[in-house]
Amino acid sequence: MDTKHTLPIAVIGAGPVGLAAAAHLLERGLEPVIFEAGPTAGAAIEQWRHIRLFSPWRFNLDAAAVRRLEPSGWESPRPTALPYGGELIDQYLAPLAALPAIGSRLQTDARVIAVTRAGLDKTHVRERDITPFLVRVEHWDGEIRDHTVAAVIDASGTWSIRNPLGTSGLPAIGESRAAHRVSSPLPDVKGRDRASFAGRRVLVVGAGHSAANTLITLAELAKDEPGTTILWAVRGASAEKAYGGGDADGLPARGQLGGRLRRLVETGKIELHIGFGISALKSLDSHVSVEALDGRTLESDVVVPCTGFRPDLDILRELRLNLDPAVEAPAGIGPLIDPEFHSCGTVPPHGARVLAHPEKDFYIVGMKSYGRAPTFLLATGYEQVRSVAAALAGDQAAADTVHLELPETGVCSTDAGDSCDAPANATQSVLLTCCTSGESQLAAAEN
Ligand SMILES: Cc1cc2nc3c(=O)[nH]c(=O)nc-3n(C[C@H](O)[C@H](O)[C@H](O)COP(=O)(O)OP(=O)(O)OC[C@H]3O[C@@H](n4cnc5c(N)ncnc54)[C@H](O)[C@@H]3O)c2cc1C
Repeated sequence: MDTKHTLPIAVIGAGPVGLAAAAHLLERGLEPVIFEAGPTAGAAIEQWRHIRLFSPWRFNLDAAAVRRLEPSGWESPRPTALPYGGELIDQYLAPLAALPAIGSRLQTDARVIAVTRAGLDKTHVRERDITPFLVRVEHWDGEIRDHTVAAVIDASGTWSIRNPLGTSGLPAIGESRAAHRVSSPLPDVKGRDRASFAGRRVLVVGAGHSAANTLITLAELAKDEPGTTILWAVRGASAEKAYGGGDADGLPARGQLGGRLRRLVETGKIELHIGFGISALKSLDSHVSVEALDGRTLESDVVVPCTGFRPDLDILRELRLNLDPAVEAPAGIGPLIDPEFHSCGTVPPHGARVLAHPEKDFYIVGMKSYGRAPTFLLATGYEQVRSVAAALAGDQAAADTVHLELPETGVCSTDAGDSCDAPANATQSVLLTCCTSGESQLAAAEN
């Protein structure tokens, strides 16, 4: 029996994609129940509310969510403006979560700790497809309760699990003991977290955009707080990738930012250590000593781990998943977004069919659907959940008709040294994805 009209559909996470999923399910006459681990919607974005997005409002709003918001008197932000994370929450996610239709179905401080089929473990096949799911949730009062649902949409993002500092995918020896010396991945060094960085010796680890962002903001902090010392460790043989293309960069703002970073290194304001693959952290009384595989050591008061994120697959252990072995994304999109080969996430719009697993009626969407790849865009996630809601409602034709609202101009930028492999006939949405890295630096530069 199809239970989708008698049981709710669980949405894990009340980030932008989880809330959009709920809005689409409601439009389809289906009943969502949203479990959010944090105290409010957008709890992960709350951690980086000081960072400006690189994509303008018009690509950050979901159509079904807007259709719900508009009758409430909500005013859409200026479509071309680039919001800060905090504005995305205050002007969009919070009002959306406050709508009675969404708010009454949202449970906050409710962390999903496991998903399975009711009465069936992973090895049991008989009647699996028609057996409801069981979602185990740890609620705000410490109570653990099982919820029976017809389908599950996992929109829990990747923010909660950052990649370790160790080079082999494992934590460096001593990393957990030194945890009190390791900051969050995107600290607000000039604002909320200033006291932890002012006048300190700070080691930033990583060569991506979060690292560039943090390094430049730290350099600004150091102007006002002279004792601040900035170290930068990258495991590669150079930092060229983080610099972008300088004056010749296809995206001037990215070039400017990369240029700024390069100048800060060249003038000695940032001390760069290349080829610094971290093997161990030694927590000492006054500081932490960070050791490289080749025996070098760096002493610092605090380490900023700009090492990327990975999906929490533990909660899905009892489900039959089909994941790409490298990026841990649904197998269908994995090869298209593998950062080892693609600097700019050349993934076409996709929906329920590509996101499906052997576990019927279970979908991973949003940031988590890209696994370890960093190039996810909200616009892609909104189309994913539109399609998934259609599929769950039995409207396979609508589910299969995937499209994205396209930006007017697509600029296929490259990370330094890499070439964008968007095919000649790539859709503009593909090219928008290509812009991700560069424009995030634009945002950072303006931060
Ligand atoms: C600094 C930064 C800048 C970005 N800028 C852009 C941009 O400009 N444009 C763009 O399109 N994309 C951008 N992204 C990428 C992406 O769109 C965002 O990360 C976005 O927040 C992803 O939305 P999401 O709903 O998939 O996940 P999230 O926003 O991470 O939401 C997931 C939610 O699930 C909750 N959760 C986690 N685990 C559980 C659990 N076990 N049980 C219950 N709830 C749980 C979390 O608390 C969180 O509220 C950016 C990302 C970062 C980090």
